[in-house]
Amino acid sequence: MFRKLFTIGPVQMYPNTATIRAKGFPHFRTDEFSKVVLSNTEKLKSLLGCGASYSLIYLASSGTGAMEATVENCFDISSPEKALVINGGGFGKRFCELLQYHGIPFDSIDLKWNEPLSAEHLAKVSDGKYCAMLVNMHETTTGQLYPMKMLSDFCKNREMLFIVDAISSFLADPFSMEELGIDLAIISSQKGLCLSPGMAMVAMSGRMKDRVMAHGRVPSFYFDFKDYLVNIPRGQTPYTPPVCVMFELEDMLDMIEKRGGLQPRLEEVKTRCTYFREKSSALGYKTPDIPLSNMLTPLYFEDINAYDVIQTLKNDFGYYVNPCGGELATKLFRVSHIGNTTLADIDDLLAKLQICVKRARNI
Ligand SMILES: *Cc1c(COP(=O)(O)O)cnc(C)c1O
Repeated sequence: MFRKLFTIGPVQMYPNTATIRAKGFPHFRTDEFSKVVLSNTEKLKSLLGCGASYSLIYLASSGTGAMEATVENCFDISSPEKALVINGGGFGKRFCELLQYHGIPFDSIDLKWNEPLSAEHLAKVSDGKYCAMLVNMHETTTGQLYPMKMLSDFCKNREMLFIVDAISSFLADPFSMEELGIDLAIISSQKGLCLSPGMAMVAMSGRMKDRVMAHGRVPSFYFDFKDYLVNIPRGQTPYTPPVCVMFELEDMLDMIEKRGGLQPRLEEVKTRCTYFREKSSALGYKTPDIPLSNMLTPLYFEDINAYDVIQTLKNDFGYYVNPCGGELATKLFRVSHIGNTTLADIDDLLAKLQICVKRARNI
């Protein structure tokens, strides 16, 4: 059956990535494997804009596992330090829930759907004393791309740690950890890297590493970053990593390098995004009035049931896009631009979407 993913993750894979699993691979407690880990790590650090003092570790988990591990390793329940969360949707809320779950005090800047984060929001919390800010660079549930320079300056001026979930911005929107003074960034395998799900990566600045290494009792044995930081210089993880995904990563990073590196990759995603937004206007939808990531386009329909549209799109034509949760479920869906899809695929998707939308409008 024909099936193409225009989803936010897992996404349409590159054919070469999809063959890795079948080829087989060496055991992971070997020099061969360590070599691949070390090479992947250097390449990822470079794509993330990490300086020499940064470290990157691999976790066998989805992105949320890395978000939770970050909360566990960067904060200490026995310390009175408070965190600040930018909460503009489902993933911002997840940071709030994780902090709450682990008993870490925090304030949050809560944004309504369609409300852009502004300097006024920050001004309202400027009297607060915070040790760290947690933000999802791109709030994937709404499409909002946050003004990172503004957040970075806020953190620098207050000597706060800057913790960024870059899962849905990595390889879609430009950013550099060092330039923005990001102390910790989380990415994961199934988004911009177009790999199988199951592996998350956490990059840390020197000062974040020091903080993590000094942390007393992390409330998770498995996700204690200290073990990962100690093992990574020799290209190893404390426990069995998703070995296959590590080899898929090698292949993908090789492809990105062969195609000219980060800039051409970002351009490719941007081209798809721009093309989709230009060509899709005939569908008769609105986009929210916020700065958008290149990773996806949110389509808001006032007159038809958006959820029904994408069910038809999937069931009749094999195209997968993402619905929206909560109150907007029948109003909004999201089309991603990070997977292995060509402009011709986009044309085809739009033709099929047009049919589904017309049906919903009874024309
Ligand atoms: C996808 C995503 C995650 C992680 O979700 P998992 O399902 O746990 O992998 C976290 N944050 C953002 C911004 C995301 O887009």
